[in-house]
Amino acid sequence: MSGYYLIVYGCQMNKADAGRIASVFEFNKIKQAENLKEARYVIIIACSVRQSAVNRIYGQVKNLLPLKKMGAKLILTGCLLKKDAVKLNKFFDLIIKIDDIKDLAKKLKIVGKKTITKNYLDLKPKIGKSTTVYVPISSGCNNFCSYCVVPYTRGQEYSRSAKFIIKEIKGLIKHGVKNIILIGQNVNSYKDKKTDFNSLLKKINGIKDDFFLHFITNHPKDTSFELLKTMKTCKKIGHYLHLPVQSGSNRILKLMNRHYTISEYKQIIKRARLLMPDINISTDIIVGFPTETEQDFKLTAALMKEARFDMVYIAEYSPRGQTIAYAKFKDNVSPKIKAQRRIILTEILKKTALKNNSKLIGKNLDVLLEKQNKDYFYGRTKNFKKIRIKINDERPCRLNKITKIKITKAAPWALEGKPI
Ligand code: SF4
Repeated sequence: MSGYYLIVYGCQMNKADAGRIASVFEFNKIKQAENLKEARYVIIIACSVRQSAVNRIYGQVKNLLPLKKMGAKLILTGCLLKKDAVKLNKFFDLIIKIDDIKDLAKKLKIVGKKTITKNYLDLKPKIGKSTTVYVPISSGCNNFCSYCVVPYTRGQEYSRSAKFIIKEIKGLIKHGVKNIILIGQNVNSYKDKKTDFNSLLKKINGIKDDFFLHFITNHPKDTSFELLKTMKTCKKIGHYLHLPVQSGSNRILKLMNRHYTISEYKQIIKRARLLMPDINISTDIIVGFPTETEQDFKLTAALMKEARFDMVYIAEYSPRGQTIAYAKFKDNVSPKIKAQRRIILTEILKKTALKNNSKLIGKNLDVLLEKQNKDYFYGRTKNFKKIRIKINDERPCRLNKITKIKITKAAPWALEGKPI
């Protein structure tokens, strides 16, 4: 048994963390194992956003215990509530907070070089083959939305040094990466001394070379007119705004502790569309939040029709231990009604997304080609729409290259085009 093996659950932040954990091992000359059975170190990066995600760790543990008997070391990190860590402790050799990953080699008594960094996000990540890379610029959250566990698993929000972020991005661009996605639980509240989110975007935009720049996830309370103007003027920033609204009812937003009203949210969207008519706007919505009435739900459906979203990630509410909503409210909307509400919103989305995409037919857009199979290239437009291009030997395209594509077909979730 030699090498390390990573099992990653959850969001892009966990994927970015995986690159940093891999680098700690490789810095100490321990390579990635070909498969689970050959690994000396098995690391699970946990997600706690839903109970089902935590249950998957218990499922995985059953497969891992025979390997532990054979000498593998089991390590658990990522987003984890204290109560889950206590319950899972007996199965693992080490449970380590994600911020302490920089000390992983020492904790595992791996004799090697020391990784010298104060903040684990500043560890140089292992770069894979992908042309799209997620760069964490902050971690944690201070917002305490009443349904969310992140402030309890990741702790207080902190921002990385702008200097380290720029250094990392320059290295990625040099390596051939063409799509940089800045990530943070509340990405647009970034602040490092005098550098706020707007000035960070402008600095990154100033890096020489041809690449796309995106960022997720934005909180409406931090989405200023200034930020929208920066998006318009910085040529590398794709016109894509992921702006979670969560509900169309002010009453529910208050219970969710979201700190904005629906009219403020609509104002942001209106301004964004005036400045950038080609903007792609997506959102998150939770249906069936405690006490959500038919009237509250109708307000959400009305908002969806009015906002004409390009994409909506719809979740049925599920209570999470330790959150304010769990402690204060009864989960009183039945699973059947939650499912019905999700289906109604999905139908609205299909129509608005198709209408938005149909308007792009005939347009020539910049597209980054990321993958291919024998028939198609797959990629993203600069404003982050999924697209496929039929492989045409007469007009060959190249992977990892920004290419002009004429849009020929539109579906709700994707576009189709051809090189011009
Ligand atoms: S902004 Fe709200 S939903 Fe997002 S991570 Fe913070 S607490 Fe959770």
